[in-house]
Amino acid sequence: MLLITIDNALIIMIIVIFVTLILIFLTGNHKKLYIVREFYSLGTNNQLKVYGKKATKAIEESIKKVCEIDNKMSVFKEESELSKISINAGNKPQIVSNDTYYVIQKAIKYCALSKGAFDITIKPIVALWSIGKEGQQIPSSNEIKEKLKIINYKDVVIDENDKSIFLKKKEQEIDVGGIAKGYAADKVKNVMIKNGIKSALINLGGNILALGTKIDGTPWSVGIQDPFNTRGEFVLTIGVINKSVVTSGNYERYFEVKGKRFHHIINPSTGYPSESDILGATIISDNSIDGDGLSTGVYIMGVEKAIKLIEEIEGVEAILITKSREIYVTSGMEGKFTITSQDFVYKNGI
Ligand code: AMP
Ligand code: MG
Repeated sequence: MLLITIDNALIIMIIVIFVTLILIFLTGNHKKLYIVREFYSLGTNNQLKVYGKKATKAIEESIKKVCEIDNKMSVFKEESELSKISINAGNKPQIVSNDTYYVIQKAIKYCALSKGAFDITIKPIVALWSIGKEGQQIPSSNEIKEKLKIINYKDVVIDENDKSIFLKKKEQEIDVGGIAKGYAADKVKNVMIKNGIKSALINLGGNILALGTKIDGTPWSVGIQDPFNTRGEFVLTIGVINKSVVTSGNYERYFEVKGKRFHHIINPSTGYPSESDILGATIISDNSIDGDGLSTGVYIMGVEKAIKLIEEIEGVEAILITKSREIYVTSGMEGKFTITSQDFVYKNGI
């Protein structure tokens, strides 16, 4: 007869607990091991979802880096490098940090590629509208006409040698709000990698950068917002591994007057919110700075020019959602997304 002693019972109990813990881990109940942190910076809400032994340290360092970028590049902080460039406009060059120099130099590249649809000297017009801020208003057409005279990214002079930025005309100002979040996301990714993190989802105000896969080995699923619906309602989803997914949309920041929406993406050739056929422009790329710089310009360019431009750029793809509820994608995206809303029609080719 087999006698179970107290000692044996204890050992069996320990084995049962151990096996149960292994089963819980293998069946995916370890999701809670992601550390999720939300914080406000860059004028928006951000979220970091991180898995790994050094997740907490990586998050702390990331937040520090994002706030540092905000302090350098915010147009709302008097001491920021961006503000100093504007104060010295038409007068003298301003020496800036490597971070700011890199962002402005990249931004100018996207201003040129988009033929001025993306224009970082748009700030005086953005300030007239003040969309999403106290005092938001429809400016008079005269005010817009006046300010349009000084909007021209070709007046930004950059000097690689002393890392300085100079604006040729007085009253010109730079706004990197259309590209800085992407840069910050790339920097956060570097901090994660430095800390040995292999799985993280970086979300800076809707700028998504997926690091690795989810811990169960599957791709991260990113939803593309339905511009006609409440936040969190998607047109489609895409699965991504080590990719940036950035969307510029008319629903991000806006106000309405008599049912007409005035949003924050300004067409530099009119001075008014962009009225192209696009309501949501998503760029999928390796680096988020590229996705961010391109998404804003592409939104303004409209479907035809946008698809043409993105097809020419190696390793970059686009998903465009239009006013007439159509979905256009670049060739590299075909078959790589799942439409989740019946309200939209997929258009194969332009
Ligand atoms: P995003 O959300 O990346 O599309 O960027 C929108 C932000 O970029 C706005 O809030 C403005 O600060 C700025 N912006 C608006 N219109 C333009 C434009 N045509 N070119 C460059 N930046 C712009
Ligand atoms: Mg952008």
